[in-house]
Amino acid sequence: MTSTVSATTALGVLQEVFGYDAFRGEQDQIIDQVVGGGDAVVLMPTGGGKSLCYQIPAILREGTGVVVSPLIALMADQVAALEAVGVRAAYLNSTLEPYEAQEVERQLLAGEFDLVYMAPERLILPRTIDLLKRSRIGLFAIDEAHCVAQWGHDFRPDYLGLSVLADAFPGVPRIALTATATRETHREITERLRLEDAQHFVSNFDRPNIQYRIEPKDHAKDQLLHLIRTEHEGEAGIVYCMSRKSVESTAAWLADRGVDAVPYHAGLDATVRRDTQVRFLREEGIVVVATIAFGMGIDKPDVRFVAHLDLPKSIEGYYQETGRAGRDGMPATAWMAYGLGDVVNQRRMIDQGEGSDLHKRNARSHLDAMLALCETTTCRRVQLLRYFGQDSELCGNCDTCLNPPKVWDATVPAQKLLSTLIRLQRERGEQFGSGKVFDVLLGRTNDRTSVSRHQELSVWGIGQDLSEREWRSVLRQLLARRVVEAVGDFGVLVPGPEAGPVLRGEETVELAVDRAPTARGNGRARGGGGGARSRAADSLGTADKEVFEALREWRTSVAKEKQIPPYMVFSDATLVGIVEAHPATTAQLSGVSGVGAKKLEEYGDAVLEVLATTGP
Ligand code: ADP
Ligand code: ZN
Repeated sequence: MTSTVSATTALGVLQEVFGYDAFRGEQDQIIDQVVGGGDAVVLMPTGGGKSLCYQIPAILREGTGVVVSPLIALMADQVAALEAVGVRAAYLNSTLEPYEAQEVERQLLAGEFDLVYMAPERLILPRTIDLLKRSRIGLFAIDEAHCVAQWGHDFRPDYLGLSVLADAFPGVPRIALTATATRETHREITERLRLEDAQHFVSNFDRPNIQYRIEPKDHAKDQLLHLIRTEHEGEAGIVYCMSRKSVESTAAWLADRGVDAVPYHAGLDATVRRDTQVRFLREEGIVVVATIAFGMGIDKPDVRFVAHLDLPKSIEGYYQETGRAGRDGMPATAWMAYGLGDVVNQRRMIDQGEGSDLHKRNARSHLDAMLALCETTTCRRVQLLRYFGQDSELCGNCDTCLNPPKVWDATVPAQKLLSTLIRLQRERGEQFGSGKVFDVLLGRTNDRTSVSRHQELSVWGIGQDLSEREWRSVLRQLLARRVVEAVGDFGVLVPGPEAGPVLRGEETVELAVDRAPTARGNGRARGGGGGARSRAADSLGTADKEVFEALREWRTSVAKEKQIPPYMVFSDATLVGIVEAHPATTAQLSGVSGVGAKKLEEYGDAVLEVLATTGP
């Protein structure tokens, strides 16, 4: 064995090196399979604990574990986290100077590492393959393996080249890991990475600590600010927007209102992006406003909320993005504001976009599943998990469970709206977007309607029993169900493929009453300030919260001094564990989850001192 680790069993390494008591889920079976030399395909949700599934086998097996990961910017942190627990690791990528890379290669050949990280494009170079053949390789771990899926949202052509590993290293076990769970992606990973003989491990995909909430978009930025101020003040979060422009304007708007918000998108300079990533990891409470370019591979465990200001294109994308919240298992929020415009714009983008008919059909069905999730009147988690082929019970931790929406019979309003579209088309030869259709329904005279004598239409003003807001809600839900469609450049409304049975009265239309945008799902809002600033400490009493804050301050100063992210000193979950255990000795402290041998030696005395001086 190459490392300084003395434990010789998987459980021994888990406890001694990583400081955890027990394996989670299928970790131990996965580790056994790989330690025994077999291949594995691992589908596990974000935060499930995938890293240990290859790190522990790499430590236990002869030779070096090679980890393939798409994001070179994050390798330095991954290596630092391993070094922090006493594991010998390095990375080989283009950020190294040639002499540094040579030194890593020399040490690799000499068998001095447990783990080496590499990007796929580097690994598949003949030169690298040759280097690895001359070294002793213990295993290959292919992280973010869904990047091999061609219809997927993160496709990376270089991942296809990884199939060479099967022939080039026949005796070396390979483990592919991803947090994307659809059957299609699973199949593609198995085929394209030539993992025909692998054992498959499909975990429970539920993330019970994440509270899922989707609310109607009203003034989205104000809604977001309200969320941050009442529930996530001073906490780290990610806000996803669709366009670079809205990323920049939203970040600036939040910053003006005192939120520590920074923009991130692919159009920004590489050094700016790198700085933003580093700040997000190293500082506490940064809110990154970003396009989907941000997030993959960012293993920050204490992201407390993920917000979407625009509708994601698929449930896979949504689940992956929201999954970046609460990896540490502590309470976190996945929040989205979604409105009429999202439906119309996204459908239009698909219709008018590039790509084959097959591609468009695919995109439409992805979007429809996403819309169904937004409009569901039952448990969001049940629906999400069902999408990934998993049955579950009502969760009690999503907005529809906590605050079930009222359902009403909207058959007559739906018919009125459809009749209006048909009359406008038949009697005026006109088609309109939502604004004018609402004017006609509400009998509202203004620039748009007065000139064209719509008042004479029989449908003029037939919808006055509902407000415009209610009509927007009705229209949005009818669009999502394709009872109405918006077509062309201007999103003009026409009866959709599902309109017939509704018009003929053969089908009743049950719609949800939109909740007021700022309605809270439960009493978690912390308003009024005071007490601990971190949601992580919610479970602690007041005196304990003070101790937690003192530990957090100590952690910040250590992290600054060592120039590593605070969670690499100890995670929030470990700090809470320390507060709850009230240890007086290092032996007691070592019993806390997340306190391994190296960290005990390094930080034990300092932690006990903080506890002694602030103890309740
Ligand atoms: P993933 O890569 O699946 O998103 P990670 O490997 O980053 O998840 O693990 C998520 C968090 O859970 C990390 O902070 C990790 O240290 C912790 N963790 C993993 N396995 C265990 C375990 N058996 N016991 C306690 N904590 C664990
Ligand atoms: Zn639920």
